Amino acid sequence: MRQRRSRLSALAFVVALLTASIPVQPAAAVTTTDVSQRYLIRATLDVAAGRLDAFEELELTNRSHRTIDHVNLSVVPRGLDYFSMDDVVVDGEPVATEWTTSINLRVPLADLAPGASTRIEIGFSLDVGRSPDAFTARTSVENGVFSFGQWFPILSTEHEIYGLGDPQISFSADVIRLELETTTSLPRDAVACPGLESAPETSGRSWICDSADVRDFSFVVNPRFQLTIRDADGTEIRAYTETVSGAATADLAADGLIGLEAAYGEYPWPDLVLAEVGSGGGFSMEYPRMIHLTRDKVADPYVVYHEVAHQWFYAQIGNDQQTEPWLDEAFADFSARYLMGIGENACSTRPVDSPVFAWEAGTTTGGDWTSCDGYFHAVFYQGTAFLNEVQDAMGEEGFFSAMREWVEDNQHGFVTGRELLLHLRRSTDADLLPIYERYLDDPDPRAPRLPIDLSLFSRSRPMPE
Ligand SMILES: [Zn+2]
Repeated sequence: MRQRRSRLSALAFVVALLTASIPVQPAAAVTTTDVSQRYLIRATLDVAAGRLDAFEELELTNRSHRTIDHVNLSVVPRGLDYFSMDDVVVDGEPVATEWTTSINLRVPLADLAPGASTRIEIGFSLDVGRSPDAFTARTSVENGVFSFGQWFPILSTEHEIYGLGDPQISFSADVIRLELETTTSLPRDAVACPGLESAPETSGRSWICDSADVRDFSFVVNPRFQLTIRDADGTEIRAYTETVSGAATADLAADGLIGLEAAYGEYPWPDLVLAEVGSGGGFSMEYPRMIHLTRDKVADPYVVYHEVAHQWFYAQIGNDQQTEPWLDEAFADFSARYLMGIGENACSTRPVDSPVFAWEAGTTTGGDWTSCDGYFHAVFYQGTAFLNEVQDAMGEEGFFSAMREWVEDNQHGFVTGRELLLHLRRSTDADLLPIYERYLDDPDPRAPRLPIDLSLFSRSRPMPE
């Protein structure tokens, strides 16, 4: 005891010396993504000019335990040269914002204490053109169809746009509401959006869409849209198409939704909207309650199922799509093939959990999407091979039961691969580690390793004394 006390006092002396010699540093900048978000966006679309003028009000409440002094907003259209904005106003005062990457807008806040709220106002415009291939189903205009995806400033982590994979990282908002006006009269079905609250009787200039518990919001405008409606066990499916009948699209979406509800648990929103964009090429794109389909894939079973599966893996359960794209893409690919009863077709030898940056790409173009060594084969198809092996080891019922628990525990949240890998190991007596080691670059490094008895952590068994 005596010896311990003298050691402690010696340590205190050293600490005192060290701290005395350290100059006082300015407090480090503090931010968080642990906030409540409510978005109201009033926008006017000029179809002839290809321009959207918008005014965004974002109410944030700090849900973290720390006082924060800024937030990061992701503005993907700035990377495509579509974006311009007025002064940003916080709680009634203009503030000095900073672009810290080509798409990251850093907005300073007067110290925002835990539980406190603030209001950010941004007036901005989008002059939309035809986007590079990876972005044609995001924000783009082609063949007279306006697609708006990843189109407004949204709370995010600081990151850079990248031409491979998906450059958006977002967190569930309480509500995202769009009040849209058009400069000319358009038919009622010209605007495809989730949560359609009001629209003109037959034609007009005003639409309101209101979407709750979503991590993003998108819409598509095409005056020539035809609307097809289906009921999928109580969820309204609305398919907006121009070049083909929407019947096949809506039927596929309804089949996919019902099949995936059985696999992963109930779809939590009242509607799911699918809209054909103007581009024939590029990649279709998922948003919460909304799917943008390229013209060559409007009734493609794989693509529709893949994007419906993203309503669970991405829309309900978020992840960092740049550093861990497999968390949504491998599950979307696996789920589409599960619904279709077809196997994977992977020829990659790269790790399933590769970040998008494992492949070279420009900010908005390029990247090896399709070769054997490319992004799709490694992350999507090899991801399916990995999940099939995990399912074989756990048994089909064990695997899907664990996945339903995963969705329920993390609904509207944000997850990491480490948490998923640990959850799967805790959910089974099978030894998954050899499978992890075969497919993953860094299999679960911080998770308890064998011979630690994982059954001690199992939720289905009582904790030992
Ligand atoms: Zn996908």
